Amino acid sequence: SENRPLMVAIIRDLTERLAHQNELQRLANTDPLSGALNRRAFREAAEMEMHTSRLYNHGVALMLFDIDHFKRINDRHGHEIGDQVICEFTDLLRGSLRAHDILGRWGGEEFIVLLPAATLEQALNIGERIRRTVENTVFSNGLPGGLQLTTSVGVTYDSRDETLDGFIRRADHALYAAKANGRNRVFLLTANLEEATAFP
Ligand code: GH3
Ligand code: MG
Ligand code: MG
Repeated sequence: SENRPLMVAIIRDLTERLAHQNELQRLANTDPLSGALNRRAFREAAEMEMHTSRLYNHGVALMLFDIDHFKRINDRHGHEIGDQVICEFTDLLRGSLRAHDILGRWGGEEFIVLLPAATLEQALNIGERIRRTVENTVFSNGLPGGLQLTTSVGVTYDSRDETLDGFIRRADHALYAAKANGRNRVFLLTANLEEATAFP
């Protein structure tokens, strides 16, 4: 009909606006360096996921990663190489996770992952697999010889009636124990454990 060119123009305009809005939303939710969710967006997504998981009686697990001795990398090779390592570390995490796992950058070289519909055992195995992969990966190929690094991992499991903050605090205690016990290891802490425990 004669209205057709107008419809096409309107739809094109709407499509462009939607793309623009999606892009604005992506920028607001992600950390510009790594592309992982920023703290606020992670919290939002994690809270929603915990809520849904409870409705369906699914477990949720949480993992915190902190690169070991990262300051040395900056000191020895400069901040730019440090930034590059953070990006490569993020890609490694992303490649090791399932599509519906929620990945956030929690701080400088600290990352947080919520695993929906996961058991504690699955989460521990994923954490350990990532720890091993990091240990066996050569980072920063731009540097002659590249860089080796390790990560410490804290894992916890949802005890249902707790808040996201309590959940994160427990993962943080587990991570702290992994650091205190020599780094490059996975520690877990659950609500019914007296103290953080090494895995395996
Ligand atoms: P460990 O965790 O094993 O205890 O030691 P660490 O050296 O990794 O400890 P710490 O967390 O104190 O140091 C982290 C360093 O990461 C400090 C900071 O300068 C650096 N950092 C934080 N954010 C960035 C960033 O975006 N880029 C770069 N290049 N460095 C960052
Ligand atoms: Mg560190
Ligand atoms: Mg740190």
